[in-house]
Amino acid sequence: MKPEPLLSIIIPAYQEAMGLVEAVNTIRSHADALCAVEYIVVDDGSTDATWQVIENLTATQPSVRGVRLSRNFGKEAAITAGLKTANGDVVVSIDADLQHPPELIPEMFKLWKSGAKVVNTVKQTRENEGLIKAGLTRCYFKLFHWLAGIDIGNAADFKLLDREVVDCLIALPERERFYRGLVAWVGFEQKTVLFDVAPRKVGNSNWSSTKLLRLALDSIVSFSTTPMHLMTFLGAGFGLMALFLSVRTFSLWLTANAVPGFTTVILLLIIVGSILMTGLGIIGIYVAKIYDEVKRRPDFIVREQTQFRQGLPDNDR
Ligand code: UDP
Ligand code: MG
Repeated sequence: MKPEPLLSIIIPAYQEAMGLVEAVNTIRSHADALCAVEYIVVDDGSTDATWQVIENLTATQPSVRGVRLSRNFGKEAAITAGLKTANGDVVVSIDADLQHPPELIPEMFKLWKSGAKVVNTVKQTRENEGLIKAGLTRCYFKLFHWLAGIDIGNAADFKLLDREVVDCLIALPERERFYRGLVAWVGFEQKTVLFDVAPRKVGNSNWSSTKLLRLALDSIVSFSTTPMHLMTFLGAGFGLMALFLSVRTFSLWLTANAVPGFTTVILLLIIVGSILMTGLGIIGIYVAKIYDEVKRRPDFIVREQTQFRQGLPDNDR
């Protein structure tokens, strides 16, 4: 008989001291019965009591492990830290605020048992987010699909990954990671489960608008060079227009019946100037990306970890 698989559940936590115990207990109530499980709670440099809460949890519950990052590196890095620490044959990543329904874990696990290498979850409604945020998010996913050619179709960070996929993800050398995009990129048999977003239990969303905008920009730049190509086409298009305009102005000057348009000059200046600036800006984003990647800094630093027990966690059974 094959030995029981080990399931690793990764829970990134930033400023979650208030709700973490309840979250871990709820997640455990759905996952403990499946197989041997280890819970890896990654403290993403919280300034509240999150790490103390994690230490207490690990002291009383042997299947819970804690990883503490040296500062706030962001959710993507926290998940990567979890993936690198996980021992499981199968890994699930889930939010610490219970906005991802843990009751889906058994269903995802079943899909994995029947051969799926990746199980994605897709938010069915985004009504808790407000119309503007939901609309912008939808536009962003469309734009990402169009530019990067990868459909992450509204998928959440709540995912199940087979060990094979986790190893592929860890082996990718890039520093700035866009988890959803990378998981879609690696391929394998992917399945999807739908869910409704619950309102946040306690605390506030830790994503500021600027953080979200940065993630949106970074993810597109990481996955697509289309904006640069677009700039070339745009440049060529405006070049043609400029050629036409100059021929026209020149012929007017030849027939000497019109003062060459001052307006034309001004318009050209503005158009060409703005195109150049946008183009430079886009190139700048990519250069910054290259700069970030060549520095080869790690995407996170682990400050401390709770003592890992030998062998498989016993789920306190
Ligand atoms: N999170 C993190 N680092 C951050 C921000 C968030 O590890 O810098 C974690 C957070 O603790 C939670 C998950 O990522 O478990 C989702 O965060 P949040 O609820 O703030 O985002 P939203 O639900 O609005 O996408
Ligand atoms: Mg949340």
